[in-house]
Amino acid sequence: MNLILLGPPGAGKGTQAKRLEERYGLVQISTGDMLRAEVKSGSDLGQKAKGIMERGELVPDALVIAMLGARVSQPDAVSGFILDGFPRTVPQAEALDVLLAQKAMPLSHVIELQVNDAALVDRIAGRFTCAECGEGYHDSFKQPATAGICDKCGGTEFIRRADDNATTVGARLEAYHRQTAPLLPYYAAQGTLRVVDGMAEMAEVARQIEAILGAPPGASNS
Ligand code: AMP
Repeated sequence: MNLILLGPPGAGKGTQAKRLEERYGLVQISTGDMLRAEVKSGSDLGQKAKGIMERGELVPDALVIAMLGARVSQPDAVSGFILDGFPRTVPQAEALDVLLAQKAMPLSHVIELQVNDAALVDRIAGRFTCAECGEGYHDSFKQPATAGICDKCGGTEFIRRADDNATTVGARLEAYHRQTAPLLPYYAAQGTLRVVDGMAEMAEVARQIEAILGAPPGASNS
């Protein structure tokens, strides 16, 4: 099964992708995470991407397409993947169609997490993750049970993304509406687009996604 999760920043794509990864044995491919790793390593790509990401703009298609192409060619992608944050433009979607056709890895579903812009600024501006395991938290909605200690792995270091601030969020939402939203009619025309209510509770969003995908292998109801 090969999926795309579509939706603006803060819609919950990363959270749902992590859950799907565990439940369905798929691999999450987040171009944002990959680019942040490139920035951290100081690679050529990272140096090109850094300022663009800090401004909340999109990294040029050619760079992201090459990076994604290499990632989808890794052996672990064969068992199925969830694309989180890619494609973000129509040229990226077109390049993906070509790539997946060459590899005979068809897309199963494109799932849009539909949310109101008004909710997104609050969702994004308060979020942070465990530096050790990547578990996501939020200042208002989900603090660790014991302050300063990750619920999942016991880690004590947390990270806030440089671009998760009220100033950059506006530019990221603008980029979404102008450059990424045209993918909705693109995938609707292909017949792969499904929509879920991204404003619902996280568990309810997960339930709606599972209703589209069918029960995971060896599913429990948790
Ligand atoms: P994300 O973690 O998906 O919110 O991505 C963080 C930032 O990385 C975005 O604001 C863009 O600057 C960049 N980025 C991630 N994925 C893409 C993509 N598919 N195309 C262009 N830029 C991207």
